[in-house]
Amino acid sequence: MQAQADAWRLEGRRIALVPTMGFLHAGHLSLVRLARKMADKVVVSIFVNPTQFGPGEDLEAYPRDPERDRALLAAEAADVLFLPSVAEMYPEGYQTRVSLDRLPHHLCGLSRPVHFGGVATVVAKLIHIAKPQLAVFGEKDYQQLLVVRRMARDLNLDVEIVGAPTVRESDGLAMSSRNAYLAEGQRPAALTLSRALNHARKQVAEGEHRAAAVIANAVATIQAEADTAIDYVKICDPETLEDVSVIDRPVRMALAVKVGRSRLIDNMALVPPHPPSSAQGETS
Ligand code: AMP
Repeated sequence: MQAQADAWRLEGRRIALVPTMGFLHAGHLSLVRLARKMADKVVVSIFVNPTQFGPGEDLEAYPRDPERDRALLAAEAADVLFLPSVAEMYPEGYQTRVSLDRLPHHLCGLSRPVHFGGVATVVAKLIHIAKPQLAVFGEKDYQQLLVVRRMARDLNLDVEIVGAPTVRESDGLAMSSRNAYLAEGQRPAALTLSRALNHARKQVAEGEHRAAAVIANAVATIQAEADTAIDYVKICDPETLEDVSVIDRPVRMALAVKVGRSRLIDNMALVPPHPPSSAQGETS
């Protein structure tokens, strides 16, 4: 992979990397299409990274279908499917980890303490291997996007981190490889995430500025369905992920809910009707 990347760079080609854990769906493919538009060569990696799973999480159960993934990527005209083994990525004697001081101490990082260190480490490695000028990540995993962006900036990686919008099923459910865990009867419970977010977005657009009131509404929407267990429902600063109590500027609402054995996450921007000019940096 490194030799191929070097050859492309010598020819002046622009390389885009799309890191994934496979079991591809339309959300992943939207990232590949965006990469295709922004670069000459598209590398898609599929690696179920063990260092981002904690004890008792779903590393073993994580759905895999490399042959189907290969066919989907061929149809998107991706140039390389990079499928490293665990032994290649973490050979005997491996001992280096990338860690961030603050971003992982919010949202998913609280219930998944090793997760973002594992993500930052594997993404740093993949960037050094595929040598892309840009790497595309989904807003679906909003905290991950921020962690990767911060890591790339902090470590002076010469790569642009591009965020791409969340792709949803027609009923609103954010696409995820983990949706494969959902049993038929759990769909109404799974749909409470996007319903709560959409309702919150509307409430805030109509002038509700109290985060606590918006959160209480979302909690009620989610708890109205049996089979849901809330991990968190938060309204936070879109850069630092610190809690926000008064919504006087664009913020991010993020939630994690267990539906049966699947832990689902989703997030959305909440934008108040007339952000004060100071928050916008201009008068209107
Ligand atoms: P994963 O295979 O779940 O690790 O995801 C690989 C990449 O695809 C990450 O950048 C995700 O944020 C992104 N992704 C996953 N689901 C979606 C979705 N529904 N819409 C857009 N991007 C997504």
